[in-house]
Amino acid sequence: MFNRWTGWKYSQRYFEMLDKRKTLPVWKKKFQFLQYLHDNQTVILVGETGSGKSTQIPQFVLEADFLEKHSMVACTQPNRVAAMSVSRRVAEEMDVTIGEEVGYIIQFEDCSSPKTILKYLTDCMLLREAMADPLLERYKVIILDKAHERTLATDVLFGYLIEVLRNRPDLKLVIMSATLEVEKFQGWFNGAPLMKVPGRLHPVEIFYTVDPERDYLEAAIRTVVQIHLYQPPGDILVFLTGEEEVENACRKITKEICNLGDQVGPIKVFPLYSTLSPAMQQEIFQPAPAPLNEDGPPVRKIVVSTNIAETSLTIDGIVYVIDPGFSEQYVYNPRIRAESVLVSPISKSSAHQRSRCAGRTQTGKCFRLYPERSFNNDLQPQSYPEILRLNLATTVLTLKKLGIDDFVHSFLDPPAPETLMRALEVLNYLGALDDDGNLTKLGEIMSEFPLDPQMSKMLVVSAEFNCSNEILSISAMLSVPNCFVRPREAKTAADEAKAHFGHIDGDHLTLLNVYHAYKQNNEDPSWCFDNFINQRALKAADNVRQQLVRIMARFNLKLCSSDFNSPDYYVNIRKALLSGYFTQVAHLERTGHYLTMKDNQVVHLHPSNCLDHKPEWVIYNENVLTSKNFIRTVTDIPGDWLIDIAPHYYDLSNFPSCEAKRVLKRLYRDTKNRK
Ligand code: ADP
Ligand code: MG
Repeated sequence: MFNRWTGWKYSQRYFEMLDKRKTLPVWKKKFQFLQYLHDNQTVILVGETGSGKSTQIPQFVLEADFLEKHSMVACTQPNRVAAMSVSRRVAEEMDVTIGEEVGYIIQFEDCSSPKTILKYLTDCMLLREAMADPLLERYKVIILDKAHERTLATDVLFGYLIEVLRNRPDLKLVIMSATLEVEKFQGWFNGAPLMKVPGRLHPVEIFYTVDPERDYLEAAIRTVVQIHLYQPPGDILVFLTGEEEVENACRKITKEICNLGDQVGPIKVFPLYSTLSPAMQQEIFQPAPAPLNEDGPPVRKIVVSTNIAETSLTIDGIVYVIDPGFSEQYVYNPRIRAESVLVSPISKSSAHQRSRCAGRTQTGKCFRLYPERSFNNDLQPQSYPEILRLNLATTVLTLKKLGIDDFVHSFLDPPAPETLMRALEVLNYLGALDDDGNLTKLGEIMSEFPLDPQMSKMLVVSAEFNCSNEILSISAMLSVPNCFVRPREAKTAADEAKAHFGHIDGDHLTLLNVYHAYKQNNEDPSWCFDNFINQRALKAADNVRQQLVRIMARFNLKLCSSDFNSPDYYVNIRKALLSGYFTQVAHLERTGHYLTMKDNQVVHLHPSNCLDHKPEWVIYNENVLTSKNFIRTVTDIPGDWLIDIAPHYYDLSNFPSCEAKRVLKRLYRDTKNRK
């Protein structure tokens, strides 16, 4: 037997995998599915997680009779982790090298080639492609996977693809969802036929606590220990909220079970979160290791994960699920213009998905760490789609570029008018939209950068401040996970190492120092290690930077730097920063706290900042609401620059609150006196 794509003989592993694949529930529906797809332009497919939708359906589509040899199929995923993980798996199943016949494209990483016929990509990347190729002509079939997740980009695609389908009768669309609430999708796509794949899940018994838990983390750890002590073999999956919490829990679980000594069998604990390296994420799929000695007790695998085990990765072999009922969610408040990460209660639908993880291979148990009455009375039925909770500035810019002006009728759930107004307003202040709401020349260029509009603006104008090289590096550093490593056991040493990079004017310039030092030390891994720098983050930043350089080149934006020894070197950079982020400025009040300009929110400098003083004015990169309302990644700027660089924004006549007006008036007065 020869591989249809490569012409090579199939490997042994291919056949082993094929046998297993054929047992997945979607295989029973293969021919029916292909028939539906042949007869209809749009098909909706619903099936439980683990039934084989993401991995098998795209391979079935490749066999469709209407495809020609080089026709391309796209399959979207709601995030990077899912796109990478599924495509790698499918490449293996098809016995091809990832990046060749099967590839993936995620922000800042293109692992595909001209040979690619099946491309997994994040929904955001498909929208980006639509900007350059409005009818998505390179594809014959588009599969929107995990549509129930309702990411912002998926919702936008729902609206956009309707138009594309109308203009391209030869294009086919498949929508896949793991939950049954698909009538809405059906209504949207003019009654497209629905295909249900029957699950083959085993029953899952649900347990609740009698009373609410005061400390869900502690309760989760206790439950793991109890299961390990008293329940028969089977892997455990624990849902927690964030990376730090997951790492913390892994340590505590290992310690507590170690303390039990010989009375219990061995365990292997895996953390799982989205910023974990792909190689480590892949490890989760390995079965628990063999017992230490032949007749010893089996090793129990314990996976401690953020929400990604619910939404992005399917792990086999889980028998026990522990669900404290929380997840981290991004929520944007248009009134105060702040996006925050909140630990919030999950929805009933999420709780249901989580419990299902326990029943894939045998009868399972799910321990919900909250009372049944909370489940019934307090959890809302569905999670809110992102379009109702996120900042829409980037999306509105994308929509404008795609030529969509009707923001109300283009969506399954139209966004809140206030959020839309805020987005239009900020884009207008940045100069991306004119006063009639039309895309400007500047806006056209900004929309090509896969970044927040503030950052895109900063990049586009950076050459005018003679520092585009530096702004590129800073933007790249801001686009990757935190580069500073701070291990629990070496906090002081790590803080000292970080202080070496510190710049008196603030964190943006500190990041620039780190990037420069990394380059000067020839990207040396041991230098990174010695200086508590996460090399992976720096590598990623380097990659992001290269891509941004390419976009700059496309628009003839000059790459330049001022002389490092000139007194203007850092001044120019800070001015460029402000020209993008003038809407994110806070002022130090006499009382010692900061107020954000225009919105008058009390905010605090995040403890990670490297300033040795409290500047009167700062710009900030983000506003994070945790125990307090923090502003993170801050840089000192002189107040009079606000008036020089963003006079249209710092215009007294349209400043809403008297408090901010008072500060601004004083600023105008002082500036005048100085001049
Ligand atoms: P669905 O999309 O319906 O949730 P998938 O196609 O993602 O299902 O997965 C089907 C099955 O393929 C899983 O139950 C699992 O056995 C296997 N599988 C998927 N991804 C991987 C992977 N990265 N490694 C190992 N097995 C995998
Ligand atoms: Mg799937």
